[in-house]
Amino acid sequence: KKYLEEFAERKKLYNEVIELKGNIRVFCRCRPLNQDEIANEATSVVEIVPSQEQELHVICADSSKKHFKFDHVFGPDADQEAVFAQTSPVITSVLDGYNVCIFAYGQTGTGKTFTMEGTPENRGVNYRTLEELFRIADQRSRTMRYELFVSMLEVYNERIRDLLIENSSEPSKKLEIKQGPEGMQEVPGLVEARVYGTDQVWELLKIGSRVRSVGSTNANEQSSRSHCLLRVTVKGENLVNGERAKSNLWLVDLAGSERVGRIEVEGERLKESQFINKSLSALGDVISALASKTAHVPYRNSKLTHMLQSSLGGDCKTLMFVQISPNAADFGETLCSLNFATRVRGIEHGPVRKQA
Ligand code: ADP
Repeated sequence: KKYLEEFAERKKLYNEVIELKGNIRVFCRCRPLNQDEIANEATSVVEIVPSQEQELHVICADSSKKHFKFDHVFGPDADQEAVFAQTSPVITSVLDGYNVCIFAYGQTGTGKTFTMEGTPENRGVNYRTLEELFRIADQRSRTMRYELFVSMLEVYNERIRDLLIENSSEPSKKLEIKQGPEGMQEVPGLVEARVYGTDQVWELLKIGSRVRSVGSTNANEQSSRSHCLLRVTVKGENLVNGERAKSNLWLVDLAGSERVGRIEVEGERLKESQFINKSLSALGDVISALASKTAHVPYRNSKLTHMLQSSLGGDCKTLMFVQISPNAADFGETLCSLNFATRVRGIEHGPVRKQA
C-alpha cells in the first residue's frame, strides 16, 4: 500500500513538472581541450557561466558573444558522476513505467561515446544506468518484481544490425521494424538478453562494441558514421495489486553530425553522409514537433525515429546531450550543434502552439 501511495505521489509530482517544463530536456557538455590542442596552443571559444550551470557563450572572431541556454551545461571539468547525477532521475523513471530516450548528439570527437559508453576507468551513462536500475529494483523488491533485458543495435545507411550476435561468419539477418501489439514498434529477431547483474551487463556492452567495429577497415571511422542504440526493456510486476507494465529505455550514441566537405565526398561516403543528414534532421524534426506540440510528428522519415516512435512523445521522456568542442578551429560545427539543440528544445517556437 505504501508503495502505491508513493507511486501516486511521484506520478502527481512528475505530471506537475511536465506541465511546467515539458518532457524534453537538453543538456550541453563541452569536452576539455586535448593534449594535441594544448600543444598546438589552441584557443577555447566556449565560456560557461559557472554559477548558473545553464548558460554558455561562444566567442566569435569579432569578439562578440553568442549566448545559449540549456537545461544544464557541463563544462570541461564535469566528471562522469556529475553528469550521471543529473541524468539519473530521467533514466530511473523507466522503472515507473515510462518510456525514455537519451541521445548524444554532436560532431565526431566531442565526447558522445565518452558520455554514453565511457572508458573502463571512467564508465559512462550506459553502465551507470544499469547499475542504478539494479540498485533501485533491489530496493523495491518487496513491492515490485522487475525483469531487465538488454539489446544492442546499430543503424548504418538505414540498415539495422544486431550488435549482440558475435558470429560474424554467418550472414546477418535482415532486421526490420514491425508494428507490435498495442502499437509498439518492435524489431523481430533482435537478441534480447535477460540481465541479472552489472558484471554481465559489462560483458554484453563489450561484445556490442567489439561487434560494432568488426567488418570495418577503420573502427573509429565506421562508428562515427552509424547510430549505436542500447535498449533496456523493463518488465515490472506490482506485487501489491498485480499490475504489470513494460517500458523501454533507449540510450543512443548518434552518428557524427559534422557536415562533410563537398569535394572530398563521393561514392560510399556520399551515400553515408546523405543517410546521416537525413536521419539526424528527421530526429530534430520529430523532437521539435513534440516540443512545440504540433499535431503531426514525422516519425516515418528515418529508421531511427520510426524505431523509437513509441518511446518519443506522449508522456515519454527525452533527453539530448549536445556535445561540443571548445576549440576555436571547431567554431562552425559548434555553432551548428548548439543551434540544432536550441531548435530541438523548442524554445524558438515561442508560446506553445496547440492544434486539434
Ligand atoms: P565522439 O564519440 O563524439 O566521436 P569520443 O567520445 O570518442 O567522441 O571522444 C573523443 C576523445 O576525447 C576520446 O579520447 C575521449 O576519451 C575524449 N573525451 C571526450 N570527452 C571528454 C571529457 N569530458 N573528459 C575527458 N576526455 C574526454
